[in-house]
Amino acid sequence: MSTEFSDLRAVVTGGAGFVGSHLCEELLSRGASVVCIDNFSTGRRRNIGSLLADPSFELLELDISQPSNDPPGVDGRVDLVFNLASPASPKDYFALPLETLAVGSIGTTRVLELAYSKGAKFLHASTSEVYGDPKEHPQREGYWGNVNPVGPRSVYDEAKRFSEAVVSSYRRERGLDAKLVRIFNTYGPRMKPDDGRVVSTFIHQAIAGRPLTVFGEGSQTRSLCFVDDLVAGILAMMGSGEGGPVNLGNPDERTILEIAKFV
Ligand code: NAD
Ligand code: UDP
Repeated sequence: MSTEFSDLRAVVTGGAGFVGSHLCEELLSRGASVVCIDNFSTGRRRNIGSLLADPSFELLELDISQPSNDPPGVDGRVDLVFNLASPASPKDYFALPLETLAVGSIGTTRVLELAYSKGAKFLHASTSEVYGDPKEHPQREGYWGNVNPVGPRSVYDEAKRFSEAVVSSYRRERGLDAKLVRIFNTYGPRMKPDDGRVVSTFIHQAIAGRPLTVFGEGSQTRSLCFVDDLVAGILAMMGSGEGGPVNLGNPDERTILEIAKFV
């Protein structure tokens, strides 16, 4: 196990979410101390339940988009900031459209300010959704995307695109060591059973003995990355000299029908 994070103090926004809780765990196991910031809008307390007793783990329950938390107050030294806070599944961001826009824009800017004021390295969790309804396959980082700015998904896609713009601006204008990763479909323990994403949906349908809801012919493809591999990628990026954007995901594409048959 790499020790490159030992004795560092990391802030993880969205640390009580699916990906964030695995990231907090891995940072602790590599010897870092962790400040988890979360407002529990889509995350769950039980995701971090086992970490609360660890003296190297601290929880700050706050909304990073709220002006009263300016910049999101963290006392003392901070070496690394991982910005993961945002509703992420379509079901969640359709239910929280304005909050999703706020966290991608105001929230991300406040967390950048926190990193800047502490002289910390910063990593932002962006998404393959910045490519929108892509006209290029596969999507390489140089592709600028095809996003509808006024459709219902724009609350997520455009918020993440704004985040990428403001992160890039802090890098250019303020010299912040800021990194962008674009995360593709990820699966693993702690996904919410009802969040509508394909793997959790199929597994819970199978456990309940119900038919699996393959949409259409199931010939559409996705590449699914296991959450531990994603976390390894996020930490490799933070430990590297790269700024990105870097796509993070599994390159092995499967049809939805294949995934259903496997489940
Ligand atoms: P998640 O919903 O499980 O976790 C997000 C966390 O952020 C939750 O704990 C939520 O309570 C917290 N949060 C939301 N708004 C907040 C705010 N204003 N202040 C403080 N905390 C707030 O989602 P996830 O799947 O773990 O995704 C984590 C990050 O990775 C997101 O930024 C998401 O866009 C990105 N991402 C995830 C995937 C994936 O497949 N899971 C794919 C692409 C990108
Ligand atoms: N999907 C499906 N049945 C479901 C949920 C999803 O066939 O119950 C399909 C969906 O049409 C899409 C793919 O699985 O083609 C991945 O969907 P998901 O929402 O997990 O991810 P995204 O579309 O955001 O990549």
